[in-house]
Amino acid sequence: MANTIIESARRSGRTLLSEVESKQVLEEAGISTTRARLAATRDEAVRYATEIGFPVVMKIISPDISHKSDVGGVALNLADATAVGAAFVEMLRRVGAAQPAALIEGVSVQTMAKPGTEVIIGMTKDPQFGPVLMFGLGGVMVEVLKDVAFRIVPITDRDANQMIHDIKGFPVLAGFRGQAPADIGALKALLMQLSGFVAAHPEIEELDLNPVFAYDDGAIAVDARIVLSPA
Ligand code: ADP
Ligand code: MG
Repeated sequence: MANTIIESARRSGRTLLSEVESKQVLEEAGISTTRARLAATRDEAVRYATEIGFPVVMKIISPDISHKSDVGGVALNLADATAVGAAFVEMLRRVGAAQPAALIEGVSVQTMAKPGTEVIIGMTKDPQFGPVLMFGLGGVMVEVLKDVAFRIVPITDRDANQMIHDIKGFPVLAGFRGQAPADIGALKALLMQLSGFVAAHPEIEELDLNPVFAYDDGAIAVDARIVLSPA
């Protein structure tokens, strides 16, 4: 499956996998995501939402849009079929206004994950060291404070543990002000799985799980983006 998706992207000359494709590839590697289905029409979106179960999240799928919320391309917590239908029409209108030239494939429909502590896990390639994994807290912590830890792939269990403990924001994960502590074991396992996955797929140039929701029991990637190297 991973190879099929990657091959078909390659054949059509694409280097960017959609959110839907990225999550399929990751799921196959044993990484837990809010699996997403691609709906090309309003009716399809409503049908998939009903099959998945409410509440759902809908996101724009376009090879020309990588920051979906910047263009009004993310709708959270849609409670029923009516809300999904209305959100589909509204989203296409908003995105069309914000980025008229973007090619729109449709929307992704996925389950609305319960809130968790947002962390970011990424992979970039260093010309000298090859794939490097990054771990940080989501939102302001990574964007403003650049509070992230890096390790070269393949990582050991000890590396994974250190990456998580190295960030300044670690107390947030350890359970800050009565907040439930995040499942560090699940985050470690996720880092190890990703390390194995990117090592096995040298054709992957870049990978972003932004964000992953960390819970007191488990963790799940709610957004995913994979970039392939040019064929
Ligand atoms: P982008 O990064 O392209 O703007 P995301 O897919 O990351 O879009 O969605 C934006 C935000 O919406 C996320 O940071 C997260 O807080 C929330 N979100 C996205 N998908 C889900 C989901 N399935 N369940 C719950 N919250 C979600
Ligand atoms: Mg995101």
